[in-house]
Amino acid sequence: MLQIKLTAPYTFESADVEKPRAAQGQVVLRVHSIGICGSDIQMFHGRHKYMTYPVVIGHEVSAVVAETGAGVTDFAVGDKVTVEPQIFCGECYPCRTGRFNVCESLKVMGVHKDGFCREYVAVDASYLHHCPTDMKDELIALVEPLAVGVGAVKRGGEYKGANIAVVGAGTIGNCVAQAAQALGAGKVLIADVSAPKLEFAKQCGIEYCADTTKVSLSDAIQDAFGSRKADIIIDAAGVPASLSSILTAARRSSVVVVTGNFKEPFSLEVPVIQRQEISIVGHMMYVREDFADAIRFIDSGAVKADGLITQRFPITKNDPAAELKSAFDFIDAHPEKVIKAIVTL
Ligand SMILES: [Zn+2]
Ligand SMILES: [Zn+2]
Repeated sequence: MLQIKLTAPYTFESADVEKPRAAQGQVVLRVHSIGICGSDIQMFHGRHKYMTYPVVIGHEVSAVVAETGAGVTDFAVGDKVTVEPQIFCGECYPCRTGRFNVCESLKVMGVHKDGFCREYVAVDASYLHHCPTDMKDELIALVEPLAVGVGAVKRGGEYKGANIAVVGAGTIGNCVAQAAQALGAGKVLIADVSAPKLEFAKQCGIEYCADTTKVSLSDAIQDAFGSRKADIIIDAAGVPASLSSILTAARRSSVVVVTGNFKEPFSLEVPVIQRQEISIVGHMMYVREDFADAIRFIDSGAVKADGLITQRFPITKNDPAAELKSAFDFIDAHPEKVIKAIVTL
C-alpha cells in the first residue's frame, strides 16, 4: 500500500509498505481524504517547533473501516469515520479532569506521530467517531478543524446569545465563526485584512464581515453590536497586531480567547486587562464532545463545510510524492485562494 512521508523540509518520499493488521481493540481504516492544515504547512517549511522528521503527516481525516480487531464492537467494516488525532495519557491532572486536549504528554497523530497520508492505517477504536453514511467523504475531513472552532467558542464561557467577534478569517477563524452561529451565539462578526477570505466568510453565511484595512476592529464591533459591544472576542489570527487590536476593541469584562498560533512572545497592555477586567484564556484543539458537535453541525448543514473546500488534489500512484509536493507548492504560492485544500488518496 501507498505511504507518503515528509522526510525533510520540502521533501516528500513515497513507499510501498505492508498493509497493517488490526490488533486487539484496533481497526484498520482505508483513508479517503485528508485536509491540509496550517500546521502541515509549518512542518513542510521546517518551521514546526515540536516535530521530528520523518513523519507521515495528516491529522484531518475521512476514512472507512476496512477491518476490525478482536474486541471491537462499536465499529464494523464499511462504517464511515473520522479520527480524533490526540494521543493522551489519561492519568495527568488535565486528563483526569476531562481536558485531554491539554494532556501533559499530548501527542498528535500526523505531527508528533505518524498520521493519515497513507492508504491504510491501524488505530485504536477509541479514537474514532462515527459519521453518517450519507455524509460526503471530503466533508468528513473538515470535522477536525471545525472541532477546533467549537472548542474555541466554548472556551469563551457564556456563548449562548453572546455577541462574538472573531479576528482572522482563515480556515480556523471561519470555523470558529460558523461554530459560534451553530452553537447559538447572538450576533457573530468576523474580521480580516483579506478581501477574498471575507468573501468566503460571507458565502458561508457569517452575519457580519469586517475588512479591517477599511475600518478599525473597534468601529466594526460598535457598528455590528452597538453599545453592548463584544462579549467574547476570539483571536484566530495569531499575530501581535491582532491581539492588541482586540484589547483596544474589548469592552469592560469581555472574554478574549486566544486560539491563533502565536510564534513568539510579545508585550501586551496589561493595565487595560486589569482595569477593564478582561479575561484572556488560551485554547488548544478540542475535547470529544466538540468533535461530536462538529459532525452534527456539518451533517445538519448548520455549518457550510462545502464552502470551505477551495481545492482538491487527488494523489495517484504515478508519482505520489511529487503530486503531494505540488499540492503544497500551490498552497504556498496562493495563500489568498486557499481556505481548505483536500488531498484524496
Ligand atoms: Zn488541523
Ligand atoms: Zn494526560
